[in-house]
Amino acid sequence: MKEKYVSTRGGEANVSASEGIIKGIAKDGGLFVPSFIHDIKIDLTALKDATYGELAFEIFKYFLDDFSDEQIKGCIHNAYYTGKFENEEPVSLKKVDDRYFLELYHGPTCAFKDMALTILPYLMTTAMKNADISKDIVILTATSGDTGKAALEGFAKVPHINIVVYYPKDGVSTIQEKQMLTQDGDNTCVIGVAGNFDDTQNGVKEILNNSGLIEELREQGYVFSSANSINIGRLLPQIVYYFYSYMQLYKKAVIDLGEAVNFVVPTGNFGNILAGYYARAIGLPVSRLICASNKNNILTDFFHTGEYNRNRDFYKTMSPSMDILISSNLERLLYDITGGNSEVIANLMNQLSTDGSYALERELLFMGDDHVFYAGCANEEETAGAIKRMFEYNHYLMDPHTAVASKVYSDYRADTGDVETPTVILSTASPYKFGRSVYESIFGEVPEGMDDYAVLKELAARTQTEIPVPLRDLDQKENRHDKVCRPEEMAGCITAFLDK
Ligand SMILES: *Cc1c(COP(=O)(O)O)cnc(C)c1O
Repeated sequence: MKEKYVSTRGGEANVSASEGIIKGIAKDGGLFVPSFIHDIKIDLTALKDATYGELAFEIFKYFLDDFSDEQIKGCIHNAYYTGKFENEEPVSLKKVDDRYFLELYHGPTCAFKDMALTILPYLMTTAMKNADISKDIVILTATSGDTGKAALEGFAKVPHINIVVYYPKDGVSTIQEKQMLTQDGDNTCVIGVAGNFDDTQNGVKEILNNSGLIEELREQGYVFSSANSINIGRLLPQIVYYFYSYMQLYKKAVIDLGEAVNFVVPTGNFGNILAGYYARAIGLPVSRLICASNKNNILTDFFHTGEYNRNRDFYKTMSPSMDILISSNLERLLYDITGGNSEVIANLMNQLSTDGSYALERELLFMGDDHVFYAGCANEEETAGAIKRMFEYNHYLMDPHTAVASKVYSDYRADTGDVETPTVILSTASPYKFGRSVYESIFGEVPEGMDDYAVLKELAARTQTEIPVPLRDLDQKENRHDKVCRPEEMAGCITAFLDK
């Protein structure tokens, strides 16, 4: 018999995939995890010639316990094979010098969040059918910049779903903000929060646990859900590209089936890298998962010492999607490495919210015998240097997030001497999404008075590369959203939006 999803903090069990996707977060504040994950074993041999979609199906059928095969196939087709992505297959693997870049940014918003957020609306509407939900859903999303637009794009105009996106008002790039503010669809609402991403994410978590507000909205016919990577429906689609890139390496005769590879992941909320950990759990041969952080290197310290301590300065960097001090999905990793001990997790998370820190025995982090995780970081100067050198030596453009990962991989090679294991860097955004930073890293200061849109054109001209279609002519578009609020006013914005 298939076990189902459980909360990391022990307060909910036996939750179906549909229920988990609709709820987003468990009642006790914990995250849903697949209790059956270690029973899954993906047969690599059978997938040798699979397309991205076929791979996705083989993986999803284990996780989406109450979805029919037809439903799963429908979701995959609608997300990845109806022209939302630039190429025939949604992702591409490119070899540059001594490393492979898995480009996950060829979707509608030019960031890897599209991989999950193009399919989440289909998973969610199917889940509503399966769980017989007759209420309308209100999706709440906190964004450090990329999730917001990807979620808006995915959910705009979807019947019976409303989406409210909160972003830190001064914590995202001009292009990211413009992408969100120009979003159309009457069911969309975009709000700037006067605070940083952690304030914004905490605000959303609080709303999702605010029983008074939940009840009030229930009476009006609404239920809340989340499009953040705390939603299990965000996580599952991310497992697929780890397998896909592995199979591409096999097809290129870089590896034999069964041979282990490394993945380097530019990490913020720990969702992407956790998907890699889950991929490994269900049979993908992974040697090391290399966790790359920017100057906000709380995870680097955590993996080195076992202490997670958010009582530290918060830095705004050129890789804003990684400017995070509370990596929510770490909770799922902790659950797994403690053997599913929800009591321990509830305690640790309680310490995190009261003291801002907790400590774990270092051996638990698999840093001993098993050595799964390696962690490193890059400051601003190192990130800029990585962008510049990669362009000058290889004529390849990396966005700042990807550059953090690339720099950490170079450190890893020097530090461990492991130069043999084929290594895939997860490239999470188009360099044009962060055009100003990329331009400045390579060519130095942008000429006075040149706005961010002109910078994109200049970057394209000077590097002989093309601006991706979704980012062209963005400046011509009109803003459709302009609300700003303080963190404590976040809940009120929802009722105002729904009442309008
Ligand atoms: C969200 C994001 C990340 C961080 O991914 P997590 O799953 O939050 O760790 C890295 N790079 C880019 C461009 C992103 O948008």
